[in-house]
Amino acid sequence: MDYKKLSELLFPNISKIIDYYENEVYPERDLPEGAKVTRLAPSPTGFIHLGNLYGAFVDERLARQSGGVFMLRIEDTDQKRKVEGSVETIISSLEFFDLRFDEGATIEGETGNYGPYYQSNRAEIYQCFAKHLVEMGRAYPCFCTEEELEELRKQQIEENVNTGYYGKWARDRNLTIEEVENHLDNNKEFVLRLRSEGTEEGSFEIKDAIRGQLKLPENFQDIVILKTNGIPTYHFAHVVDDHLMRVTHVVRGEEWLSTLPIHYELFTVLGWETPIYCHTAHLMIMENGARRKLSKRKDPELGLGYYRELGYHPAAVREYLLTILNSNYEEWRMENPESSIDEFEFTLEKMSTSGALFDLDKLNNISKDVLLKIPAEEIYEFLQKWANEYKKEAAELLLSNKEQVIKLLSVGREGRNPRKDLIYCQQILEFISYYFDEYFEIVDKYPENIDEEEAKKLLNAYLTTYDHSDDQSQWFDKIRTIASENGYAAKPKDYKKNPDSYKGHVGHVSTLVRIAVMGRAVSPDVWELQQIMGEEKVRRRIENAINK
Ligand code: GLU
Repeated sequence: MDYKKLSELLFPNISKIIDYYENEVYPERDLPEGAKVTRLAPSPTGFIHLGNLYGAFVDERLARQSGGVFMLRIEDTDQKRKVEGSVETIISSLEFFDLRFDEGATIEGETGNYGPYYQSNRAEIYQCFAKHLVEMGRAYPCFCTEEELEELRKQQIEENVNTGYYGKWARDRNLTIEEVENHLDNNKEFVLRLRSEGTEEGSFEIKDAIRGQLKLPENFQDIVILKTNGIPTYHFAHVVDDHLMRVTHVVRGEEWLSTLPIHYELFTVLGWETPIYCHTAHLMIMENGARRKLSKRKDPELGLGYYRELGYHPAAVREYLLTILNSNYEEWRMENPESSIDEFEFTLEKMSTSGALFDLDKLNNISKDVLLKIPAEEIYEFLQKWANEYKKEAAELLLSNKEQVIKLLSVGREGRNPRKDLIYCQQILEFISYYFDEYFEIVDKYPENIDEEEAKKLLNAYLTTYDHSDDQSQWFDKIRTIASENGYAAKPKDYKKNPDSYKGHVGHVSTLVRIAVMGRAVSPDVWELQQIMGEEKVRRRIENAINK
């Protein structure tokens, strides 16, 4: 067979040779020793999820820690799945979490010397390499129709053999030039297939940087590398792109492990070194005591939009992700509570292979710690920005009460046992909502031992003795006095000793005040909050509670 002739016949318009791409367009990168080149390669389907972020984090850390390159390549060969605006969403979502690309697709277009970074603009490149494979005798056109392939499948199932296009089943493997010419003259469509040299029994070994040494079955299928429209399949595009873009580490989900033999064969056929594969584990969730994969349908927290809409601080999500990415992270954090997250050395070896467990409660706990370290002014700015985007009506209020909101956010955060009340914007807003008359409502019930009548009496006493200039201890002494004058123990421990001698204790009285002023039974220090609110507001709230 004259493969050269066949290649010309199939690709008459491809005049470049692979050397041109290999050496002129995509030369080896000039990077420091050990620099890692990674890429995020999403399809522009409009849905960007936690799994993407998880993978992107690995990519970014590897590149950043080694002085390498992290790029964004858009895998848009499937035009049907393309959603307008997805690239912007990908870029802005990742940027929100402080993940920035050095190279690749951008909101305006693209940047870097290894483009185009949209696979749809690389058709000619793939075809040049496909043509090369034909010339080597390692790829051939297949004119089988869908129906014929279905027929083949049925027959294979009947004979109880592996299904697919391979070996003796590969009908068009050995077409003559004349037969090919004939099909082409009849305008028959063809896909281009790899002529696999693998066997059904064969295996090979490869090292995965996360999973260690793997022994996998060889690929023996003549898989499709170019579809009828000349556009490559994922397999071929992955191999050509990651080679030409000089990617050193391919970080991708474990769902690609099963097709790794195909990629290995393609790299081998083309005489290229395989990149270092890093197959990340699925994100799992605990449900009724069992682990299951996070699902787009069931778990809203899979979408990245979820975290932005609720207003999680990116630093909290980053901190949390590192705890699930590297098993030694938490220990490091305990030893280095004040260090920047960037000082932690992320490694592939410390990644989970059995499924990383995602736990929203844990994220919330981490968020509390992370927010505690962020100054109240910065939390305010973040809250304001979030409200501008997701809670317009609150944005105005936050703006006109800036000073007070910052104070509210600061209450109880100092000292040895600081309060950890703040988690994410939506929750923070609810948490401080009592401050605004627009949001204020009494959500908790008065303590059980205080009925309406009694409550009015106690609140009246509070209002009469209230002096806004009292310091904290003067203020509390007054509450004690009100308590004891009305039959409540001035100290909880006295009440505990002799519960029958009292109606309750000072804590019940102060809770009553707390609920009247803040609307809730749990809040930071009442005296401090009252100072922020101002006398007029405090008195008005008490009066309203008395008169309700
Ligand atoms: N486009 C593929 C995906 O979105 C990329 C896989 C890879 O990173 O190679 O899953």
